[in-house]
Amino acid sequence: MAMSYYMPTKIIVGKGCIREYGKSLEKYGHKAMIVTGKSSAKRNGSLKDVEEVLNANQIEYVIFDEVEENPSLQTVERARDLALSKQVDFIIGIGGGSPLDASKAIGVLVKHPELVGDTLINGESLDSVPIIAVPTTAGTGSEVTQYAILTDHKAQTKKNIGHSIFPEIAFLDASYMMQMPVDITIHTAVDALSHLVESYLSTRSQALSEGLVEQGMKLWGECIEALLSQNFTFEVRQKLLLASMYGGMAIAQTGTSLPHGMGYALTYHKGIPHGLANGVLYNAYLRSFKNQYKVNCLHQLLGLKSHEALEGILEKLCKISISVTEEELKHYTEELCENQAKLANHPEKVTTEDIYKIYRESLLRK
Ligand code: NAP
Ligand code: ZN
Repeated sequence: MAMSYYMPTKIIVGKGCIREYGKSLEKYGHKAMIVTGKSSAKRNGSLKDVEEVLNANQIEYVIFDEVEENPSLQTVERARDLALSKQVDFIIGIGGGSPLDASKAIGVLVKHPELVGDTLINGESLDSVPIIAVPTTAGTGSEVTQYAILTDHKAQTKKNIGHSIFPEIAFLDASYMMQMPVDITIHTAVDALSHLVESYLSTRSQALSEGLVEQGMKLWGECIEALLSQNFTFEVRQKLLLASMYGGMAIAQTGTSLPHGMGYALTYHKGIPHGLANGVLYNAYLRSFKNQYKVNCLHQLLGLKSHEALEGILEKLCKISISVTEEELKHYTEELCENQAKLANHPEKVTTEDIYKIYRESLLRK
């Protein structure tokens, strides 16, 4: 079968990389919109670095700092109105996956002003104004993917907008993550692991994506002790950021599969953070495979002695306490069964009962 690989984002990695390579922003225009969350970019130094670089290169800018976690179609519509009124040429997303994904969606809306939030997801593949990505979490890999996941309140779920929007440049500086709270660090790290694993086990996995997965798994494996002891040095932060980048590059080729599709319901209906929502399903998901050959390679790629060791680590990192009923789980199962793209990426035939069983084993065990 033919193989293909496409990842057009320029990646720049290292402490101080935005200041060092700030001049590369000049070619995107005279006016930028910075898109970020409510407060973390102001505290961790990333916003200041971007503002200084824009000022130094005489690029005007406006800031939209209202992106919430799991951003909604309404939020990107509001940001688009501001961008159009200020006539911005390009967008700089700073933050976790939420501001980065919002930036991509805003970029499409700015380029295609005839669209509104409700018509943004329309099956067509549209382009965007240029997007620059500055990730400040190490989990989603959104800085190197073409995806943008938004919350659609009418449909009561999260959806990929479906337009392929790779950022032009991704600046990866782990120093913005030094003060990240332990829970966000762990949940986002589990998200990175879930991208690596779902890519590796995907129907669409091939040698070009597996090479990326292997690099990412090795780095993630080297951070396990730090994740368990909650001791995050710069070196560990940088490894997690690179592992997340490799995960993003891998899912850009293969997509994600069942845990991501199943986790959206837990995030939407129960407010569980994205990485944790996937991670809590993982042990049951891995056990659900009939062919365990590739599942059994995972612990080796992480440098662990056994699959049981991996299960134990996931148990420790993905603790959850929610109240959920069998009826709710049945409803989530039905929702997932409508998500043909996620089901198609799973390499084995999967039934409604299989999915329900994963939810049940993960959430109704005790
Ligand atoms: P997030 O929702 O972007 O942010 C979570 C929290 O972390 C926010 O409170 C944020 O604060 C804070 N935060 C961000 N950086 C920080 C830092 N350096 N120090 C301290 N706090 C920090 O979390 P995320 O897990 O990165 O992103 C999740 C979203 O990405 C979901 O919507 C998910 O569906 C999506 N996703 C996208 C892809 C893709 O390929 N596009 C892949 C996986 C997931 P502020 O709000 O104040 O900034
Ligand atoms: Zn994810």
